[in-house]
Amino acid sequence: MVARAPVAPDHVRSISPYVPGKPIDDIARELHLDPKTIIKLASNENPRGPSKHAVAAIAAAAAEITRYPDGNGFALKAQLSRKLGIDPAQIVLGNGSNDILELATQAFLRPGEAAIYAQHAFAVYPLATQARGGVGIEVPARDYGHDLDAMRAAVTRDTRIVFIANPNNPTGSWISAQPLEAFIAAVPPQVLIVLDEAYYEYLRRSDRAPSLAWVGRYPNLLVTRTFSKAYGLAALRVGYGVMSLEVADMLNRVRQPFNVNALAQVAAIAALADTEYVEQSRDLNDAGLTQIYQGLAHLHIAYLPSRANFVMAHVGDASRIYQSLLAQGVIVRPVANYGLPDWLRISVGLPEENERFLEALETALAAAPSVHLVARAC
Ligand SMILES: *Cc1c(COP(=O)(O)O)cnc(C)c1O
Repeated sequence: MVARAPVAPDHVRSISPYVPGKPIDDIARELHLDPKTIIKLASNENPRGPSKHAVAAIAAAAAEITRYPDGNGFALKAQLSRKLGIDPAQIVLGNGSNDILELATQAFLRPGEAAIYAQHAFAVYPLATQARGGVGIEVPARDYGHDLDAMRAAVTRDTRIVFIANPNNPTGSWISAQPLEAFIAAVPPQVLIVLDEAYYEYLRRSDRAPSLAWVGRYPNLLVTRTFSKAYGLAALRVGYGVMSLEVADMLNRVRQPFNVNALAQVAAIAALADTEYVEQSRDLNDAGLTQIYQGLAHLHIAYLPSRANFVMAHVGDASRIYQSLLAQGVIVRPVANYGLPDWLRISVGLPEENERFLEALETALAAAPSVHLVARAC
C-alpha cells in the first residue's frame, strides 16, 4: 500500500504561495551570469547597504547566540517608546511586520469571517486571511489606490479586519491624513483596522499622518512599521505594531514567545539611533525616483507616481520585458499576480543601478517595438 500524506483543509490548499523577488544567485545559476554583474531592483530593499552601527551591534552580540533572545524585546521597545512617545506595552514586535499582519488575523479572524483589502494591495493581506479560513473581500481600486468610500461600504456584520497600506505596495499610492482619519472614524469599533506603514519613513514629514496619535483615540487601530525598508534590515526580519493595550494583549497571546531574534533586536536598536542613515536613505530614494521618472518619460513609458521606494511602469508585454531585463542581469518585479499584467515594479536602486535599469529597458523595448505604441507617458 502506498502511504498518503495528510490532506490539508480546502482553505489551505487553495492558497497560492507568495512569490518573492528572484534572488540574485538563482538568476546567476539559471542564466549563467556572474552574480556580481546582476542588479536586483525587485524587493524594495534599501540599496545602500546597512547602517555601520547595526552591523557593529550584530558583531558584538554574536558571542551571545547560545542564549534565547529577550522574548519581550525590552530594550528595543524602550527605544521605540522614547522615539515614538508610546507606552512600551502598546508595542508588539514582529518577525518582520508581516508577522504582525499574521498575528492580527490569528487573534481576530475566525474561519468564515471577513477581512477587507483593496485591489492591487499588498499580497500578504489575502494570504494571511486565507490561512485562517477567513473570507477575503477585495474592493476595486480607484486610480490604482484605495477607494476608502467603497471599502467603508464593504464593511458588514461579518467583517473583522480592514487592511490599509499607506503607501501601498506595489502601486505606490498614498492617502493623506484627513480622508484616512475620516475612514478610521467611520469604521465600526468592533472591526480591527490594520494600517500598514511599511514605507512611512520615505514620506516627507508633511505627508506623514499622525497615525500613532490616532491609536490613542481609536482602540481598534493597529499601525505597523518595519525595519526592512528605510532602516535597511530586511534580512533580519524585524518590525512592530503600535496598538491599544487590549489589542496588544491579544497579539501577545498568539505570537511565538521568541518571535524576534537577538541579532535583529540589537541591530534594530542601533538602526533606530542612526537617524543620519534613514535621512540619507530618503534623500537617495527621492533622487532615484526622479531619475527613474525622467528615464521612463524619455522612453515614453507611463508610470505611477510613487510615495515609496519603487515605481510601477506600464511596459505593455510585461513578461517579455521582464525576461529581457533578466537576460541583461537586471531583476525587477512582475506584478501580474496583483492583477497588473502590463506593469513591472522597479525598486529604486543606487544611481548607477537605476541607470543600468533604464538602459536595459531601452534595449528590451527596442526588441519589442509594439510596446511603444501601447504605453503612454504620464
Ligand atoms: C515590505 C512590506 C511589508 C513588510 O515586510 P517585513 O519585511 O515583513 O517587515 C509590509 N507591508 C508592505 C506593504 C510591504 O511592502
